[in-house]
Parts: sequence; C-alpha cells; structure tokens
Amino acid sequence: MLEIGAQDSYPPDAVVVRCDGAALTDVEKDAGVQPLDAARFRSAMGKFATGVCVVSYLLEGRPAGMTASAFMSVSLDPPLVLVSVRNQSRLLTSVTVGDRYAVNVLARHQDQVSDHFGGRPSDATPCAFQHSHGAPVIDDCLAAIVARVVDLHPAGDHTLVIGQVEHLEERAAAPLIYFGGRYRRLDGVV
Ligand SMILES: Cc1cc2nc3c(=O)[nH]c(=O)nc-3n(C[C@H](O)[C@H](O)[C@H](O)COP(=O)(O)OP(=O)(O)OC[C@H]3O[C@@H](n4cnc5c(N)ncnc54)[C@H](O)[C@@H]3O)c2cc1C
Repeated sequence: MLEIGAQDSYPPDAVVVRCDGAALTDVEKDAGVQPLDAARFRSAMGKFATGVCVVSYLLEGRPAGMTASAFMSVSLDPPLVLVSVRNQSRLLTSVTVGDRYAVNVLARHQDQVSDHFGGRPSDATPCAFQHSHGAPVIDDCLAAIVARVVDLHPAGDHTLVIGQVEHLEERAAAPLIYFGGRYRRLDGVV
C-alpha cells in the first residue's frame, strides 16, 4: 500500500488530504498535502452523486420529515434499508425500534420540498402527506418506501437507522440529484 509521504509526486489536479491527524511531513507540505477538516471531508463526500429523499415519520402523532441523501438499500432477503441520521435530529427523539418511517425519493421538481425539510423551511409546507401502512407518505414522489425500524446503530455523530421494508410505491418520473452540494438533473444515459 502506498503511504502519503512516501510518494514523490501527486496528480497535479488532485487535492490530497492526510486523514490520520498526524502532523504533515515536509514532503507532504511541499506537495501541497492538506490536513483533514470538515470542509475537506464534505467536499470529497460530495463527489458521490446521490438522489435526495425525505424521511417522514410521526412526531407526537403528526407528520414530520427530514431531508437525507445518506440512504441506501442494505439487504434483499430480508429487505432492509438504511438512513444515516445526525444525532441531534428530531427524528431520533421520536423514532425507535418497532416504529415506521417512510423514505420519500424526490422527483426533479421537488427541490423546494428538499429545502423545506433540510433546514431551509418555506412559509407554507410545499407538499402534502397521506397516511400509508403506518407512516406519513409525501404526495407526488418518485418512490415511497415504508419501513419498520429493526435496528439503530450509533456511528460517530450520526445514527444508522435500519428498517425492514413493508410497503413500496413507485412512479415513472425524473429524479432530483445531489452532487457537489447542489441540486442537479439527470443528464441522460451513458
Ligand atoms: C440535500 C440534503 C441532504 C441531507 N442529507 C442528510 C442526511 O443524509 N442525514 C442527515 O442527518 N441530515 C441530512 N441533511 C440535513 C438535514 O436535512 C437537516 O439537518 C434538517 O434540518 C434535519 O433536521 P431535524 O431532523 O432536526 O429536522 P427538523 O428540524 O425537525 O425538520 C426539518 C425541517 O422540516 C420542517 N418540518 C418537519 N416536519 C414538518 C411538517 N409536518 N410540516 C411542515 N414542516 C415540517 C421543520 O420545520 C424543519 O425546518 C441533508 C440536507 C440536505 C439539504
């Protein structure tokens, strides 16, 4: 394995970051290697293009939602999905093992919905909820996945919320894409 510092040169257009917290060597400084910080971490993670979803749930009996891009399918048998949720999120004050939540995959026109549930709320809620199989589901999404929480795994400043899928809905439409900290549109087939 090649260790940072043992290299003579780095790709000229790459930002190279040391992640182990150790002081940069002179070789690294000369090569422009940078220490890890939150902005660098976010920037590198932002190179991974994702869709955008709103995780909806019941908060004191009323629908609530939180925008998330850290969503993935985990297992086919049994069907499991995972969302990584910030530990301070209101979702974690309400949702526990046995509860249901819905992952609403946003369509291209739903950037305002993402903003609203992602910390930039509009005056009026830009979507409606329907009750479906134990969870509030947002109208007009690309897909809705209703899952029952089977496990909560602490992971640093986030918690991995693992759910067993109990109900699926999907429709044909274009997705909302998130890349490099901005919303994008899908640019056709490769
Ligand atoms: C594109 C994108 C991706 C993100 N990905 C992640 C991720 O993967 N994991 C993560 O932890 N965070 C992620 N975030 C950040 C997260 O969405 C914000 O931190 C958000 O504020 C969630 O905070 P909260 O759970 O405390 O929700 P809250 O602050 O409780 O709610 C979020 C917003 O939704 C509004 N809201 C909630 N329910 C309703 C309702 N029923 N009617 C009307 N308004 C309502 C609230 O007023 C608030 O403004 C992402 C944000 C964006 C924009």
